[in-house]
Amino acid sequence: MAHDVVLIPGDGIGPEITQAMRRVVDATGVEIAWQVVDAGAGAMLEYGTPLPRHVLDAVAETGVAIKGPVTTPVGTGFRSVNVALRQAFDLYACVRPCVTLPGATSRYQDIDLVIVRENTEDLYAGIEFEPGSFEADRLARLLERNGGRSFRPGSAISIKPISPEGSRRIVTYAFEYARSMGRNKVTAVHKANIMKATDGLFLRVAREVAASYPEIAFEDKIVDATCMGLVMDPHDFDVLVLPNLYGDIVSDLCAGLVGGLGMAPGANIGEECAVFEATHGSAPDIAGKDIANPTAEILSAAMMLDHLDEHEAARRIRDAVSATLSEGEQVTADVRRSLTGSTEGAVGTQAYADAV
Ligand code: NAD
Repeated sequence: MAHDVVLIPGDGIGPEITQAMRRVVDATGVEIAWQVVDAGAGAMLEYGTPLPRHVLDAVAETGVAIKGPVTTPVGTGFRSVNVALRQAFDLYACVRPCVTLPGATSRYQDIDLVIVRENTEDLYAGIEFEPGSFEADRLARLLERNGGRSFRPGSAISIKPISPEGSRRIVTYAFEYARSMGRNKVTAVHKANIMKATDGLFLRVAREVAASYPEIAFEDKIVDATCMGLVMDPHDFDVLVLPNLYGDIVSDLCAGLVGGLGMAPGANIGEECAVFEATHGSAPDIAGKDIANPTAEILSAAMMLDHLDEHEAARRIRDAVSATLSEGEQVTADVRRSLTGSTEGAVGTQAYADAV
């Protein structure tokens, strides 16, 4: 029986890389009934909302979606569709494997680590107050009374909620992932030395959870030291579990370690639904030129096939991507440049998908 999957092409390079991904998935022979729906700026124009009800209903019904990136206006305009989807379906675990692929020039070889990022809380909860708003003024007065020295009139405020339940389930997810994938160590990343209440809570819960997994090594690291450690010796890391904001930033750092954003797949997992997508954004600078690298999106589809218990097809996709990158002949401009120093001989997004 065909698997029902919602496909959100997104915008920017989204439609190109999802088209490439879809052709690769279809070539495995696994039957997928794709339900293509629109979200983002196009949906905003047509339905007056970037994430229309029928999109949410479709994802709720199938339980599985794969999406291209969606542009989020900076500073003003509608809120991130990605954040809204994660919150709507409580997709609390963002899983981003960072593995060195053939053909990716990087300072390091043989990197194999996994980011497990909390996806629903933290500064991304979207609780923000504009300067001069009623709430910001009330908070200002409250903080003044409590001696908030660096709190100046006219400040904008973001709230950082970190809950015991939210921390427990993400750290438990990281340990369960480590156990099921035969991994040896979990590192909890935080800034508890400064944010004693929020990150302190995350760290306390992480230590409690770690005690239930004596066979898996556990350490905690401050986020700035983690960034330095990842750049100095990424082989020292295995599974990293992080609150939302640090997870977002450190994911991109790790994508850079394995050859760039074009190579980094991801999954957003909840109890009921899973939404798969590349780590990168909509790359408006290269959109519509058939030069984007669809590898991250194709590997996100391989994660989706594993989720659908189509492990053989997932393995074949990973092998095909590795083989195509190893040969280095039919690869996109970013990979060609890292292999040869020039983009000469590169092929387009769709031709690369054909080669895979
Ligand atoms: P970006 O990831 O889109 O691009 C950063 C750089 O990486 C650009 O130079 C781009 O050309 C390059 N790049 C990205 N993906 C590539 C690929 N597949 N192949 C080759 N090169 C690639 O980051 P940005 O420019 O900061 O963000 C653009 C938009 O994307 C913003 O509106 C942002 O909010 C949105 N965004 C969406 C998602 C998502 O939908 N999940 C994630 C991150 C950012």
